[in-house]
Parts: sequence; C-alpha cells; structure tokens
Amino acid sequence: MRKTVSSCKEITRNLWWSWDTEAKEIFRELSPILWERVNHNPVELLRHISNDELQARFQCTLGEKTERVAARFRSYMAETDTWAARNTPELVKNPVAYFCAEFGIHESVRIYSGGLGVLAGDHIKSASDLGINFVGVTLFYKEGYFRQYLNHDGWQLEDYPLQYPECLPIEKVTGPDGKDLIISVSIAQSEVFAQAWRLKVGRATLYLLDTNIPANESHYRDICCRVYGGDQNMRINQEIVLGIGGVRLLDALGITPAVYHMNEGHSAFLTLELLSKELAAGTPMEDARQKVRSRCVFTTHTPVPAGHDRFSRDMMHYTFDHYLSQNGIDFDDLMLLGAEDRSNPYGLFTMTVLALNFSRAANGVSKLHGEVSRQMWKTLYGVESEADVPIGHITNGVHAQSWATPTTDRFWRRFTDSLDTLTGSQKAAEEILSRVPDEDLWCLRFHLKRNLIDFIHRYLANQLFHQHTYSMYPEYDSSRLAKNTLSPDVLTIGFARRFATYKRAPLVFRDLDRLNRIINHPTMPVQIVFAGKAHPHDDAGKEYIRQIVEHSRRPQFAGKTIFLENYNLGVAKRMVSGVDVWLNNPVRPMEASGTSGEKTVLNGGLNFSVLDGWWPEAYNGENGWSIGNGEMFENHEDQDRFDAEKLYDVLEHQIIPTFYERDENNLPVKWLRKVRNAIATIATVYNTHRMVKEYAVKYYLNRD
Ligand SMILES: *Cc1c(COP(=O)(O)O)cnc(C)c1O
Repeated sequence: MRKTVSSCKEITRNLWWSWDTEAKEIFRELSPILWERVNHNPVELLRHISNDELQARFQCTLGEKTERVAARFRSYMAETDTWAARNTPELVKNPVAYFCAEFGIHESVRIYSGGLGVLAGDHIKSASDLGINFVGVTLFYKEGYFRQYLNHDGWQLEDYPLQYPECLPIEKVTGPDGKDLIISVSIAQSEVFAQAWRLKVGRATLYLLDTNIPANESHYRDICCRVYGGDQNMRINQEIVLGIGGVRLLDALGITPAVYHMNEGHSAFLTLELLSKELAAGTPMEDARQKVRSRCVFTTHTPVPAGHDRFSRDMMHYTFDHYLSQNGIDFDDLMLLGAEDRSNPYGLFTMTVLALNFSRAANGVSKLHGEVSRQMWKTLYGVESEADVPIGHITNGVHAQSWATPTTDRFWRRFTDSLDTLTGSQKAAEEILSRVPDEDLWCLRFHLKRNLIDFIHRYLANQLFHQHTYSMYPEYDSSRLAKNTLSPDVLTIGFARRFATYKRAPLVFRDLDRLNRIINHPTMPVQIVFAGKAHPHDDAGKEYIRQIVEHSRRPQFAGKTIFLENYNLGVAKRMVSGVDVWLNNPVRPMEASGTSGEKTVLNGGLNFSVLDGWWPEAYNGENGWSIGNGEMFENHEDQDRFDAEKLYDVLEHQIIPTFYERDENNLPVKWLRKVRNAIATIATVYNTHRMVKEYAVKYYLNRD
C-alpha cells in the first residue's frame, strides 16, 4: 500500500487531476468534508491525512482506483502520438511561451481573477492534451485575487487569505548548482529579484515568478501579492517582472521558444527585453525590431478602453530610465513604441500599442471583437480601410473536460469513449446524440439541477450565517431561509460573471412588477441564481451587487432569486452545469467574447444572450435565444430599456412556454431538441481544442 500512497501523491503534483473525473473522486472519497474545507486542494488534503491512515484507506477498492488513475496519468504523460506530433511537429521541438498575468486552472490555485485567466487555464490544458510543447509564464500571487463576502446590506467586502507554496502543487525552480534560481530586473534605480515556481499542468509547464524573497526591499516583495491589486505603479512593476523577468527566466532555463504569445497587453514589456538582447548582440535597430516582431504574437481581449493599460510619460521615465541606459534604447523611441498617436510624444504609453507594434500577428477573441479591434486600432497602421488592419480573430472556447461535471462526464461516457469524441465534430456529436433517449437527457438535467440546489443550500447556510453576524437581526434564521430556497422543478436561470458595469447584471430587475409576474407565475415559475465579484475599486459594480441582494430579499423574490458569494471556478462549475438557461446581457459590443455560456452547453444548459462576443457566431435560431438582433443605441438609457423589453418578451413568449410544454411522459420535447442542437453546434466548435489548434496553425507556426 505504500506504493499506492506514493502514486496518490504523484497524482496530486500535477494539475492533470483537475480534469480527470476519477482522480477527483479519489480525493473526495478520502474525506468528503475535508475535501470541501480545503477548497478541493489535494495537496492540502493529504497534509491532513497521515500516511498510516492513507495506507489503511487504500486497502479497499480506493487503492485499486488510485493505481488505475496513476497508470492513466503516466500513460498520458508518456504519450507521443499526439495531434501536435502529427500536425505541427515544429511545436513539439520548441515550446510556445505563453505569457499571461493570470491563469485560472483550478479553484485551489488562486492566481486568477476572471475570464482572461480562465481562458489561459483552458488554453494550457488543451495545449497539453494536443501535445504542443508549451510553457506558460505568470506571477505567483501570495494573496491571489480577493475572497468576496457581503455585509448585511449586500455591500461587497474583500479579504485576502494567503496561499502557501507548501499547500500547492508547485516546486521551486533551481539552477544547475542546485540553488534557487534567481533572476533580476531593473525597476527605476533598483534591482528587483525574483525566484520562480514550477507548476505542472499535464504535459505543459507553468512558471510563476515571485518577488516575495528576502533579497528585495519590502515594497518590491509586494509586487507578487495580489492579482490586479494596487495602483498604476504596482501595475507597471508587475508587468516588468512578468514581461522582462519572464524572458530572463526562460533564458536562464535554456528554453528557446518557437514563439512568444502575449495573452493581453500586460506582458508586452517582454518585447523590450527581446529587443535589448538583439541590440546587445550587435543587431542594428531596424533589423532588431523586425527580428522581435517575427517571434511574437499578440491577443487583445477587450474593447473597453479602461481595459487597456496606459502609463504616463513620467511614470515610464522614472521606471525605465535605468533599464534604457543599460540597453542603449532612447526614451523618446520607447514612448513612440507605445504611442497611440505618434504625432504626440507627450501622450500615454499604451501596452496594447507596444504589443501590436512588436507582433507578427495579432487577434481579437471573436469575429465581432476582431472587427471592433480593427476599427479601434486603425489609426496605428495608417491604412484607408479597416480590412487592411492586420488584426484577425480566433474565437474563444472552453476546455470541455474541465467544464463537464463528474455526473456529466459519466453520462456521456455511456454513449461514447470520451468527451473529445463528442466535441470533435458536429457529425460525431449528432451520431452520439441520436443514441441518447430524451428520458435520459432530461434525467441528466434534473440530476445536475438537484446537485446545484443541494450545493446552494449548503453554501447559503454558511453565507447567510456570517451575513447574520454583521446584522442587527438575531431572529434572522439563516438555515431555514437556505432550506426553503429554490426547487429543481422550476426553470432556473443563471447569471454569473465579473460585475463590470457594461455586463449590466441587474438588468432583469428593471421592471419589478413584470419580473414578479414571471417569477411567481402559478404554473410556470422561474428562479434566478446570481454570482460575481466587482473589482475592489469598482464602487459602481459593488452597487450593482447591492441592488441585486436588495431585490432578492423582497418578499416576492425571497428564495427565488439568490446571490451566491465569492464567484470562483468551483462556484462557476456548479452554476453552469445546474442551470437551465445561462443569461448574458452586456452592452454590445463590449463583451469581447465571453466564455461562461460555452461552459453550460455540454451539461445541457441553453444560452440566452445579447448578440455580443461569441454568441452572434454561434446562435442559429434553434440552439438558444437572443436578446434583440444586435440593435445599438447611442444613449445608455434607451439601450437598457430596449434590451430589458426584449429580455422579458423572449422569456415570456418563448423560453418559459417551451420549458413547461410537456408530452404525455412529462418530457419537454421541444426544449430537449434545443439542447441537442446546442450540443451539436456549440460544444463542437466553442472549445479550446479547436481554439488552440487554430492558434497553432494560424499564429504559432511561422511556415512562410
Ligand atoms: C468562465 C469564467 C469567467 C468568464 O466569464 P464571462 O462569460 O467571460 O463573463 C469569469 N470567472 C469565472 C470564475 C469563470 O469560470
């Protein structure tokens, strides 16, 4: 059994387990209560269970299961006949270096904030599955993103629990001498040091730079404290460590990337370091710039102006003066590289502009966002027509295996060998679906919704309990309130995302009387589950949360509209799998892609969304519903009124009647037809296997 204990530990050291259903079951079975308490972190779980106890536990079938999973893990790691080996052998030889300020791989590794990170996490998993040689670079944030809780007024408060390296599946990177590998970057007049951690994600490796070491002055240690925390000064420091530090780390490790992929502009300073290296090798400036360009690609992620980092000339001067003099780059030349308007040398330095200037190819993250980006950055290229702006698009997807719950995974495996087969092509999906009886599909839906509601009952009891500790109402019975919440027979709508104001979370509450009639319909009721975090500095976003909480407490909505605290990957997984309808109502075209709606489909959920982001490409009239037809108004108030009206109309006249229309066996046949259509047309396209293949072929390979 000692062998099995070490097999189990081996599995915990690679996040591959996070997308293997059986591996997750082992950890849960070891101790269901502890598993919840440690936020599904197997490294921490095993720290609480002695080796003797583990050995005892592995004497039964759990031991066999563990060896079976370990064997599968080892064969996954050793596999050489991969998609990349067959299609892009260049990308097996040299790695893709993928830089991103956040990675959302699993809820137990809190180095992400929202969609960008989750996309990066799903990207690295698919790269691993496809056999692409892949290294990610990011920062190790000792506090991560905040944990959200609400006070009795529904106002968001934040706390920042530490994450301890010894409780994570990371190991320190050491140099050839066996000592910690330390790299340094210059920030202002100081030298800032960073060590690195290695995190294995299947066959891919993620490196996390960490400035929280004794060699640094204390204010530089905090560079690696919080995801998107602090002020502009903190932000530029983080971006120097990520971009310049990241290139230096890969150099120190002897890694020569086939391509550098800047996922969002945060890491764009990496281009300056590549330029400096060329200049140091004696390459003349123009050639050096061309060479850097030939090695970099860039993905932009938002049409929201505030989403693009911009730094003042003063800040750039203060921060980069020393670096530039070391590397023979002129300050005004640097400012031009990040200037949106080259005729104004005193303007801001924009990271997106730097990235665009130094990438051989760039893309937005949906067809519509590609168009918006070409329009947005047209002036940089001095071209007549938007069509001539060299920014393309690759539409975001999700990692199917990660977003299927264990119940969903087991369900599909009754009909096919793996989810990859189901999502491989529309034809394959249709063939598989033709063998799935309506009863079974509906049963899956009921099961998943039950799971969500059970989860919410446990979760809310906790959440209301501590809201209660802030309250002045001792009679507030949180456990009773939690238990009387939600029913699995009722049409359930989910809405969860960052509370950026353009996403308009409270839109459905615009007309309270109409919503009341919808939610409390005598025979066709509706319930809504909300979740999401506002950025700590975003009071308008927090106000949206407060409004939703306030509405949720009105007598007519209590127990039927719910706000769940602390949206994260774990809560997201529960929600996208349990709800019938995933609602999305951003202001068009602010949602570059959105991915959360893509997560719901394999679990049998349907999308109901404004035609923004990925949805205009995917929506075919049968696989979900749209809010309007992409109408856009100058005035926000007009837009909100129009979209809310459409939202109610479609709910009342299409979604609700379809859900409640049943045949003689009490099955919603028309509804299930839509579910089937969605799986066949959405799950097969909006996944990261398709997305990463596109990146590999169109962007990573430089075959010409
Ligand atoms: C998927 C996901 C997101 C991104 O959702 P959008 O659709 O882009 O708003 C954000 N946060 C978490 C935790 C997620 O799982």
